Amino acid sequence: MQLAHWAGLAAAAAILWAAWRYRQFYKKEHLVCPKCGHCWKPPLGKMLLSVNAAGGKIIRCPACGEKEYMEAAPDTPRREQKTS
Ligand SMILES: [Zn+2]
Repeated sequence: MQLAHWAGLAAAAAILWAAWRYRQFYKKEHLVCPKCGHCWKPPLGKMLLSVNAAGGKIIRCPACGEKEYMEAAPDTPRREQKTS
């Protein structure tokens, strides 16, 4: 048993999982700001640099500028509110 070997495998698995998770997010989900309700998909660079939290992200909202914990919500076109 070589610990370094397993650590490498775990790191590779973590990277693969993250890549898959981001792919799913961009395909099917978006973030919702709890302050202003803004729905958005952050650029990948912001996603990678932002702090991960359980099921969501701690990230700055582009609409109101607040740094908040945002949960990923599924894209549901039917429930999308049209604000104009
Ligand atoms: Zn906001």
